[in-house]
Amino acid sequence: MRLIFIGPPGVGKGTQAKMLTEKHRLPHIATGDILRNAVRQQTPIGLQAKAHMDRGDLVPDKIVVDIVEERLRDADCRDGFALDGFPRTIEQANALEQVLKRMAIGVDHVVCFTTPRQVLIDRISGRRACGSCGSNYHVVNLPPKREGFCDRCGSALIQRKDDTAATVADRLDVYDRQTAPLVRYYRERSLLREIDADGDPREIFRKLEETVWRRS
Ligand code: AMP
Repeated sequence: MRLIFIGPPGVGKGTQAKMLTEKHRLPHIATGDILRNAVRQQTPIGLQAKAHMDRGDLVPDKIVVDIVEERLRDADCRDGFALDGFPRTIEQANALEQVLKRMAIGVDHVVCFTTPRQVLIDRISGRRACGSCGSNYHVVNLPPKREGFCDRCGSALIQRKDDTAATVADRLDVYDRQTAPLVRYYRERSLLREIDADGDPREIFRKLEETVWRRS
């Protein structure tokens, strides 16, 4: 199964993608995670990406497309994968189409998650992550047992630099301007499956599985 997940920041697509890929043993390719790792390790790509990410802007297409192409050629992606957070522009979608064509494969579904803007803002500004193992929390919806510390490894929880209120508004604008046009792009290719993501994550997951597997 080859999947693409799109949706605005905070819609919960990362959580859903993680649940689906763990359950069905698919590689989960989240460009945001790959880039944050590169920034942490101060690799050449990380150094180029950092300023864009801190502002809430997109990293240049060429950098992200190269990362994705290299990852898709890994052996574990042969039987399927879930791309989470890529493509995010029409240019990236066109580049992906070319990459997949060269690999003689296609995408099965493009899942697009939607939710009202205020819900997104509340979700993102309450988000916290473990600085050490990467586990995710939310101050209201998914609080850790001990405030400020990870249940799994005990390290301190941090707020992503780009999850602050000011940057969140910018990221949502970037989404509307640059990523939302992909909805039409994939609808025209009959690949788009829309899922209302305002509700209980388990119920959304049930809808996701039904959508993806029923249609295959
Ligand atoms: P995410 O974790 O998906 O919200 O991504 C965090 C940040 O990483 C974004 O705000 C962008 O700066 C960068 N990023 C992630 N994926 C992409 C992409 N496909 N194209 C450009 N920038 C990206």
